[in-house]
Amino acid sequence: MSRYIATRAARGANALVAEAEVMLAKTIAERGAGTPVAFPNTAYYLPVAFGMLGHEVKTLGDLRPVMEHAHKLLHPAPDDNLWVPYLGETLDSGMATLLAAETIEGVRFTLGQQPEPYPGFHLAGGTSFTSPEFESENGGGHLNGPIDDIQLRSWGIQLVDGRMPGFAAIVGAARTNAAAVAIVRELQRRNILTFLSGNVNGRSIIDQLREEGVEMGYDTFIVPFGRDTISAIYALGFATRSALTFGGMKGGQWRDILLYNKFRVFAFVLALGEVDDLKYAAAAGAISYGFPTIADTVIPQILPSGVTRYEHVISMPWNEIGAATEEEKAAKLVQRAIEVRGVKIKMTEVPIPVPYGSAFEGEVVRKKDMRVEFGGKYSRAFEYLRMVDMDKVEDGKIEVIGPPIESMAVGGAMDLGIVIKVAGRKMQTDFEPVLERQIHYFVNGASGIQHIGQRDIAWIRISQAAYGKGFNLRHFGDIVHARLHADFGAIVDKVQVTIFTDPALVAEWLEKARAAYDFRNRRLANLTDETVEEFYTCTLCQSFAPTHVCLVSPQRLGLCGAYNWLDCKASYEINPTGPNQPVRKGAVLDPVKGFYTGLNEIAVKNSQGSVQEVAMYSIMTKPMTACGCFECIVMLVPEANGVMVVSREDPSMTPAGMTFSTLAGMAGGGLQTEGVMGVGKYYLTSPKFISGDGGFKRVVWMSSILKQTMAAELQTVAEREGDPDLISKIADETVCTDPMELVAFLEGSGHPALMMDPIF
Ligand code: SF4
Ligand code: ZN
Repeated sequence: MSRYIATRAARGANALVAEAEVMLAKTIAERGAGTPVAFPNTAYYLPVAFGMLGHEVKTLGDLRPVMEHAHKLLHPAPDDNLWVPYLGETLDSGMATLLAAETIEGVRFTLGQQPEPYPGFHLAGGTSFTSPEFESENGGGHLNGPIDDIQLRSWGIQLVDGRMPGFAAIVGAARTNAAAVAIVRELQRRNILTFLSGNVNGRSIIDQLREEGVEMGYDTFIVPFGRDTISAIYALGFATRSALTFGGMKGGQWRDILLYNKFRVFAFVLALGEVDDLKYAAAAGAISYGFPTIADTVIPQILPSGVTRYEHVISMPWNEIGAATEEEKAAKLVQRAIEVRGVKIKMTEVPIPVPYGSAFEGEVVRKKDMRVEFGGKYSRAFEYLRMVDMDKVEDGKIEVIGPPIESMAVGGAMDLGIVIKVAGRKMQTDFEPVLERQIHYFVNGASGIQHIGQRDIAWIRISQAAYGKGFNLRHFGDIVHARLHADFGAIVDKVQVTIFTDPALVAEWLEKARAAYDFRNRRLANLTDETVEEFYTCTLCQSFAPTHVCLVSPQRLGLCGAYNWLDCKASYEINPTGPNQPVRKGAVLDPVKGFYTGLNEIAVKNSQGSVQEVAMYSIMTKPMTACGCFECIVMLVPEANGVMVVSREDPSMTPAGMTFSTLAGMAGGGLQTEGVMGVGKYYLTSPKFISGDGGFKRVVWMSSILKQTMAAELQTVAEREGDPDLISKIADETVCTDPMELVAFLEGSGHPALMMDPIF
């Protein structure tokens, strides 16, 4: 433990606590202890004080005990003669500094001095405290206050599931503007969230990035907090709130919160430029959270000791970094920080000759630009992934069996079969369809390749441009191999791919694949809500509907249509702390409407108490809530004693007098509204579709696009319901968009809903 650091942290803490005390006393004297104090857009009060001490700061007076606590943590600077090399005092100084910094920011908000006005910024979440005149004179904008809860949730999930490996709090200013840009780009490249604060002699990295035209904001993962060191408190507030939000901790559980951060939140501090007392003190505060500081100047280091598992303060002087350019130096600095903290970085290298990434997923390959296509009208293509024993897979082996692309005229069509064998200790046959469905996303990530559909209706195009760069059939295998390892490494250990273009072999394997699809279909049909003990939650959408949770059962998929019960099961296996958690159904309270004790409990918990009970199979009694991504809206049509189903793709008027987009406002937002519900379209085909209210026979009106695109599935439903002509008895927008006309049509068609018990 460095005496130098201990001394400077203690000095910094003493000074800041004194400043906060004076400021607080003065403001209370002027405004009164009852004056409200709040950070905007967060339910966590002043989060560090709330998390560490359990204090819900709502007024200036509530800040007094916070400062008293901070004061108690102060130590004098170490004595020259009596020096005990103890980390504890430095950590105390750090915590005192954080509490004082948060107090100052809280008081500043009360005084209308926060967020710091700054020309040129606009961040969705920050509430503006600057005057309209200021905004217009200065081109608008201000630095961010605390990150709002909604944004926190959206990033938090990514932090938890690894898409966003961690965050970097940069304090100070880089040597040059070029260095500032290079450092931030290195962090962005790795999806690391970057918070900016502080300055060196009045110059902040925020100024540097702004001068270089770097776009800052939530979307680019670069969040400028403020030009003083104190504003770095928001980074630690963010860390505290992560533990409260995702770790399920309560205010006051300081030990758990710090440990959560130490083990789960991969963050670090980059101290750029001269480090003064306050920065040492703040760095000491970060150490309590397990966040090391990496400085680009010469400072003493804190290396691993008995109590610490890794370095806490690292010095990597910019001028001594062995690299020719600012970019290379930045890369080395960031790399070092990542190593020190042990940040897990997920960058999938896909060995193909065209650019690869999710930015290319939406690309379309037009016929005139196409080298060759597989599937569609003129040929057939299928994908089949199956699990086999470990010793039956040669990992990384990719074979192409049959004629190459060159054998085909430009713009032609070929048969194709992509057959994949996987093995893994945690692999289950149930996960085969889950992994197989990913091929669509995997292949689409390649620039110049278009993929549509799945199973035996896959349709793939390779553009001339991609072919020109050397993309060939084997690369489908390379993509699938790389991505399965990268994304599903938790369940898949080995991957082998065979690409068939030989027509006879394609036909032979297509038959095997179809038998497997058939088997899976039957397995799915037999998988009922009664035959399993656990359903799954999906909380992915809490990023924007913070009180919404999808309850996903074998017979009711997530309302976005993207997550069924098996997907959730696999997702949980891959990421046990992720957004899909098993939930025991518990005791059945009402088998018809689908009330279960376990589900009610989880609904209360995940909705933060806004929902008390939830029915799995009813729209009329305590229906499931919705975020905003439902494929369809189901809504009561009282006149017709039934419901209508409106597809997201249907722009027309409905018998409710509203279009989909207006209805969406009523159905979404995590509210429980009886008579309105957002659903995934395949829920319509489930025997459990509003079975508590009479089931599918209640559907009196349905967007025609659903009738067309799901004709076969809906016909099966009609037969199951014992009314083979049922679909033709259901109206759509081409028939009527008015409730009176609807009733007349239903009477004419003999729709069963008119004869059923009153729906409410
Ligand atoms: Fe999850 Fe889809 Fe529901 Fe969102 S809509 S919570 S992604 S299942
Ligand atoms: Zn959603």
